[in-house]
Amino acid sequence: MADEEAEGAERMEVSTELSQAPQRQASWWDQQVDFYTAFLHHLAQLVPEIYFAEMDPDLEKQEENVQLSIFTPLEWYLFGEDPDICLEKLKQSAAFQLCGKVFKSGETTYSCRDCAIDPTCVLCMDCFQNSVHKNHRYKMHTSTGGGFCDCGDTEAWKTGPFCINHEPGRADTTKENSHCPLNEEVIAQARKIFPSVIKYIVEMTIWEEEKQLPTELQIREKNERYYCVLFNDEHHSYDHVIYSLQRALDCELAEAQLHTTAIDKEGRRAVKAGTYAACQEAKEDIKSHSENVSQHPLHVEVLYSEVMAHQKFALRLGSWINKIMSYSSDFRQIFCQACLTEEPDSENPCLISRLMLWDAKLYKGARKILHELIFSSFFMEMEYKKLFAMEFVKYYKQLQKEYISDDHDRSISITALSVQMFTVPTLARHLIEEQNVISVITETLLEVLPEYLDRNNKFNFQGYSQDKLGRVYAVICDLKYILISKPTVWTERLRIQFLEGFRSFLKILTCMQGMEEIRRQVGQHIEVDPDWEAAIAIQMQLKNILLMFQEWCACDEELLLVAYKECHKAVIRCSTSFITGIKTVVQLCGHTLETKSYRVSEDLVSIHLPLSRTLAGLHVRLSRLGAVSRLHEFIPFDFQVEVLVEYPLRCLVLVAQVVAEMWRRNGLSLISQVFYYQDVKCREEMYDKDIIMLQIGASLMDPNKFLLLILQRYELADAFTKTIPTKDQDLIKQYNTLIEEMLQVLIYVVGERYIPGVGNVTKEEVTMREIVHLLCIEPMPHSAIARNLPENENNETGLENVINKVATFKKPGVSGHGVYELKDESLKDFNMYFYHYSKTQHSKAEHMQKKRRKQENKDEALPPPPPPEFCPAFSKVVNLLSYTDSNFWTEGMLQMAFHILALGLLEEKQQLQKAPEEEVTFDFYHKASRLGSSATNAQNIQMLLEKLKGIPQLEGQKDMITWILQMFDIVKRLREKSCLIVATTSGLDSIKNDEITHDKEKAERKRKAEAARLHRQKIMAQMSALQKNFIETHKLMYDTTSEMTGKEDSIMEEESTPAISDYCKIALGPKRGPTITEKEVLTCILCQEEQEVKIENNAMVLAACVQKSTALTQHRGKPVELSGETLDPLFMDPDLAYGTYTGSCGHVMHAVCWQKYFEAVQLSSQQRVHVDLFDLESGEYLCPLCKSLCNTVIPIIPLQPQKINSENAEALAQLLTLARWIQTVLARISGYKMKHTKGENPVIPILFDQGMGDSTLEFHSILSFGVQSLIKYSNSIKEMVILFATTVYRIGLKVPPDEMDPRVPMMTWSTCAFTIQAIENLLGDEGKPLFGALQNRQHNGLKALMQFAVAQRVTCSQVLIQKHLVRLLSVVLPNLRSEDTPCLLSIDLFHVLVGAVLAFPALYWDDTVNLQPSSISSAYNQLYLFHLITMAHILQILLTIDTGLSLSQVEEDSEEARCASSFFEEISQYFSSCAGHDAPGWYLWAALKNGIIPYLRCAALFFHYVLGVTPPEELFTNSAEGEYNALCSYLSLPTNLFLLFQEYWDTVKPLLHRWCTDPALLNCLQQKSSLVRYPRKRNSLIELPDDYSCLLNQASHFRCPRSADDERKHPVLCLFCGAILCSQNICCQEVVNGEEIGACIFHALHCGAGVCIFLKIRECRVVLVEGKARGCAYPAPYLDEYGETDPGLKRGNPLHLSRERYRKLHLVWQQHCIIEEIARSQETNQMLFGFNWQLL
Ligand SMILES: [Zn+2]
Ligand SMILES: [Zn+2]
Ligand SMILES: [Zn+2]
Ligand SMILES: [Zn+2]
Ligand SMILES: [Zn+2]
Ligand SMILES: [Zn+2]
Ligand SMILES: [Zn+2]
Repeated sequence: MADEEAEGAERMEVSTELSQAPQRQASWWDQQVDFYTAFLHHLAQLVPEIYFAEMDPDLEKQEENVQLSIFTPLEWYLFGEDPDICLEKLKQSAAFQLCGKVFKSGETTYSCRDCAIDPTCVLCMDCFQNSVHKNHRYKMHTSTGGGFCDCGDTEAWKTGPFCINHEPGRADTTKENSHCPLNEEVIAQARKIFPSVIKYIVEMTIWEEEKQLPTELQIREKNERYYCVLFNDEHHSYDHVIYSLQRALDCELAEAQLHTTAIDKEGRRAVKAGTYAACQEAKEDIKSHSENVSQHPLHVEVLYSEVMAHQKFALRLGSWINKIMSYSSDFRQIFCQACLTEEPDSENPCLISRLMLWDAKLYKGARKILHELIFSSFFMEMEYKKLFAMEFVKYYKQLQKEYISDDHDRSISITALSVQMFTVPTLARHLIEEQNVISVITETLLEVLPEYLDRNNKFNFQGYSQDKLGRVYAVICDLKYILISKPTVWTERLRIQFLEGFRSFLKILTCMQGMEEIRRQVGQHIEVDPDWEAAIAIQMQLKNILLMFQEWCACDEELLLVAYKECHKAVIRCSTSFITGIKTVVQLCGHTLETKSYRVSEDLVSIHLPLSRTLAGLHVRLSRLGAVSRLHEFIPFDFQVEVLVEYPLRCLVLVAQVVAEMWRRNGLSLISQVFYYQDVKCREEMYDKDIIMLQIGASLMDPNKFLLLILQRYELADAFTKTIPTKDQDLIKQYNTLIEEMLQVLIYVVGERYIPGVGNVTKEEVTMREIVHLLCIEPMPHSAIARNLPENENNETGLENVINKVATFKKPGVSGHGVYELKDESLKDFNMYFYHYSKTQHSKAEHMQKKRRKQENKDEALPPPPPPEFCPAFSKVVNLLSYTDSNFWTEGMLQMAFHILALGLLEEKQQLQKAPEEEVTFDFYHKASRLGSSATNAQNIQMLLEKLKGIPQLEGQKDMITWILQMFDIVKRLREKSCLIVATTSGLDSIKNDEITHDKEKAERKRKAEAARLHRQKIMAQMSALQKNFIETHKLMYDTTSEMTGKEDSIMEEESTPAISDYCKIALGPKRGPTITEKEVLTCILCQEEQEVKIENNAMVLAACVQKSTALTQHRGKPVELSGETLDPLFMDPDLAYGTYTGSCGHVMHAVCWQKYFEAVQLSSQQRVHVDLFDLESGEYLCPLCKSLCNTVIPIIPLQPQKINSENAEALAQLLTLARWIQTVLARISGYKMKHTKGENPVIPILFDQGMGDSTLEFHSILSFGVQSLIKYSNSIKEMVILFATTVYRIGLKVPPDEMDPRVPMMTWSTCAFTIQAIENLLGDEGKPLFGALQNRQHNGLKALMQFAVAQRVTCSQVLIQKHLVRLLSVVLPNLRSEDTPCLLSIDLFHVLVGAVLAFPALYWDDTVNLQPSSISSAYNQLYLFHLITMAHILQILLTIDTGLSLSQVEEDSEEARCASSFFEEISQYFSSCAGHDAPGWYLWAALKNGIIPYLRCAALFFHYVLGVTPPEELFTNSAEGEYNALCSYLSLPTNLFLLFQEYWDTVKPLLHRWCTDPALLNCLQQKSSLVRYPRKRNSLIELPDDYSCLLNQASHFRCPRSADDERKHPVLCLFCGAILCSQNICCQEVVNGEEIGACIFHALHCGAGVCIFLKIRECRVVLVEGKARGCAYPAPYLDEYGETDPGLKRGNPLHLSRERYRKLHLVWQQHCIIEEIARSQETNQMLFGFNWQLL
């Protein structure tokens, strides 16, 4: 010992020295005899040093150290040369291999429905994109983590097992080359190193001592450093852990969060370092705190620091060897061998098994690395995968048991690896043959389930734990995996082992047969609904397993017969209580049946009969193989068919009694069970098999006895012998329902032959029939059909193979989904009594089909379609039909009886047509003709039917009766035909006769129906008259006629003012046309009263919503001031980054009514707990009529009619030139300035004189061109004006309301301008004309908004308006310049125009008298303002022309072009260099015309809504050329815009000079990138790829910008700008105003001013968000080939972009309807509203 110590010390010296030189360390190792000891020694010294700082590690440094001092030496030692070179070489030669990429949670996986062996075979994104399956029918799914890519596994794929990257012999490497890339020495070294490495990893990983290391590692002085380590569990929530840590450690929230996140991710973390005692104390603290918040204490341990260090390094070493192994198959094999070697003289299993067995004790991070180690070694080498699988099966039981008592997710349990082995066909076969894996699994089940066994040895899941049972399902799943591929070759051994497995499986079924028995509750209702979910869930899990067992058994006759025998034995064994029961005798109609006394309504009954049903399944397969005849060899006597039938029959009776409401008191639990019994998820192995069992009974029993048995079990035998001795209506109803149910089951027994083996049908025919019947109910989308068809073990329904034979696909529109419609020729296959119809489906289908036949003018008979032939084994079932004797009462029963009759006749007809009469023993006709042998009256059915036809109550059945009678005739004739030859013509004649009488009846019925119809019509008319009033005054007026028919309006206007000529369709200047005003009478949607809109009346208002908008931005994502306290919104930036949009739904209310309504809403929501729906504080409410989200109202103010005397106007034109006008305005302004500065208040004479005498340019001269007195608005209107203006201010600037703020009027003008721009842009986007296509709501909204803006000025201080006006005018007036006038290129001139026009009348204000310009003055004011601003805009456009653009116009030397050149020359002189482009004149002109149109269109809209002058025709239609000229004419512009400059040259020249020489402008011009050009680009949602998998691909490359860990990420795509964000994740949360918000919400603040559209890529879901707390889901624009969306990628079909739908989404955005959509969806989905949008 001492010697060793000394040696150790010596070594330490050497090795520290050597750690500087890895190769020397390597060569030193080389000299050692025992590498393991030397290696451990090396680690013992270095590892605790490197991993010393556990609490706050420098990860980079750690990694560097470990690389340098451990890994590099190891690699040198392994390769004997520079490892970098060597690994590079190996990489080059890396040949074919499995992909083996391990999926992280949330990653998309692909499977191929055409080529995958089973659905568990998946590809990673890269492999898929490079594989042939890309063009197959693939499925996309989101991985839950833990699986791996099967690319390269030839057993997993029928075709195309390799992607391009993993194809063998790819690239230049030849096979020999790639097979032997390593030389002998390296391999020898690997054999030396790998066992030591794996041994160390295993030893350290499973090291249990908390306080000390293994002795060979404890070579240093032991220190006193411990950690308190917290482990992850599934009991505690994030917040619990944070809380407990904060309390126990007394730390900051951030630190506690950091710990918690790490624990959640890694599984464990040291939360405190210190002495053992200190750590122990912390441990107790955490435990007790966590116990306070939840029942369980947190899992905490105190660990010795060096143990922690070595364990950490062991995992790092695991990752290292993982990397090394990826280079070479030889490495992997050596590693696997090392793992599988058992220590010679030890009891321990091999290393890998030790790891496996330790798995449940490990924490998450460790498990992950170890599983990856298994993936990259064993699972990449087929031979070793097999060996691993064998080890796995060896310990299977133990592993599963540990997993079941563990609390980690399945995805990180070693048991989850089973799917990787069990689904490989060769491996599965091997495991069955060699290790009897089926028995192993079933025995595991039997061992873990006993806790659920009751004293009868049946399962009982009452009070089960869902989590625990969920873990048991995993074992059941393994059974499915092992059976999923049926062997093609059967060895004797396989047979024996399989049968043994089957026997063992029957043991489980035995425990289920008859489990959870129930008894009918009489008197009192049951107190607690018993648990039923567990048993049903197991049934669901077992469904396909049962089917697969049956299929395996059916592989050959011998096997099947033996299995049958075993199963039969098991069923009989479970039936002892029945066999030994007391017997009774039933007699009816001369037949006797001896049976056991049992009543479903009194005795115990169970719905779970898997044994009986398995037997039925085996019987059917026996019949299919034609081996029923050999049954007696295996079950010589004692077949006891009555016993077999008994239990399924009871179950069907139970269902009937539940329908008859006899089990009402047994609660919902039973109802649910009965539902699932017949539901598509279970029915194949429940309901369907019970029917089959009855068919077996019917085919093997005497038909009379069989029927008696059924009567007996339905407890109806009495009802048929005696008359019902009661007048109790309920009881009669009950009896009737029972009879109906029983008859239905009889119909099914005889008629349902669509099971291969029961009838001669194929699987396709079965599926086809299911689809036909589904589509008989209604046309359905693909997914609905798929949902209603049973899935096989591969999750396939077989739908696609057959659907096109029976149905046609109808494509979807912009909303909704594509549907399949049944082909006409398939309608004949409709069977009203289809056994998979639920009650509602049945009546819906019947209704649909009758309706259809009626529409086609056919009779309403719905006879059954001819059924397929029974298989021989079941052929005797039809004998049942010979027994029909009954006394029917309800119409339903009659209908069924007819159905049975029809079935009988059809059967006979078919048999007769096939064979001569002598051979047809089936004689329905004769028996039916003599009804009931015991009946005294010798009526036959035919006569009875004739009689029934006359009963008026059976009107609906008449056609059916006629059909049956015809059928009788046909059969009669067929019978006669074979005896004596009857002339076919006579037969036809008689049919014809039949048809004639038939037609007569039809006519009569038609008459009656007509009378009924008239009566109905009358009632309907009365009702609709009542409704009409309501509807018309309400919604329809606005909603159904969404597009205003502008043209009609204008025609109407023309009619009212017939003298309107084109001359008058001018909005500006002296030639201005008359204002068209109509008397407007509106109805309040709240009180329904009408009122005329007048300025003196009480206000009426429009519901409206004001919102910030980035719909027009030229600079998306421009940083925005989150609070607009200091913002000056007078001038709009030309990039229109943020605007304030005012929209309205167009609904009118009285202001008073609205106020009352709003108060009521406020009151009612104060009482509600959740007020998330809308934010009352900011004035939100839902429009009372259409439920749009609104946050204010716009007052409706009538247009003031203005007329101009044109002569006066013309005369004024001579006087009031632009120059003169400017001088007057300037004089007025400077006058005001003087006044304000002096503070004097002189009395000024008022000039009402309209003449133009006084021409001295002084303060008052402006008034001399005409004034009028101010309009007086009612107080109510003023109030509303102020309210609305304040809302616009508050929302537009995000500030608290303040009606006195000087910015209120600015915001009014701003929202007017922006709203017009947005609507103009939208119209252009949609290619619609300017005036002809406005929606009603847009029209009403704009009208109200503009008139409001006109009125708004009056409610403000005029001095304030003047101040604003001066600033606005200083942009376009020479000699006027205020401090802050921005340069021409940094303002939007349309905003200037709107502001200036609306503010201008303020110049007429005076202290004493309120004046405003007269119509003529206004006309000039507006004309000159418009001309000036237009000239400024022209300059803007010309300065920013993109000369690089090629305009698709022919070079043309027009006047305009020449003007353009000369004008441009003129202005060029102001620039020394920068604007010196020499574009040709025609180009300039074309660019100008193109660029100015949006501005002109906006101006036209603006002046139209302000002035009410009718625009020219051309603006109502869609012609580009006509539009331009019409705009110019309407706006009084010359079509050659340069003429403006010529006309005003002297005035404009100084302006041009001023604009162009502005240094700020030059600066703007130089910043080319941020220059806004005209026309502005139109925004659209980002381009999306056609194929959705491209997006998924994109998302897979997404890395969160803030955290390295790439798990559980929700990449979300912003559809405005294309940014991909990390959503719903702590890493990317931001804090705004002290609140945490998610990455998306934060992004939306800047990108869309709070409103945004995102696509959640992994879920294929669009979400709309608004503000911090609101959002909703919206259908994604991706559709599968069946025209359906796939939210959550649940179905996984390939998805492609639907352009129409994406366009629709685009319009939702551009119409500013996102908020509306959100509000509407919240209103409809109030219940589901629980998502925390804030953290998106
Ligand atoms: Zn792959
Ligand atoms: Zn691949
Ligand atoms: Zn494929
Ligand atoms: Zn009202
Ligand atoms: Zn509305
Ligand atoms: Zn964005
Ligand atoms: Zn993130």
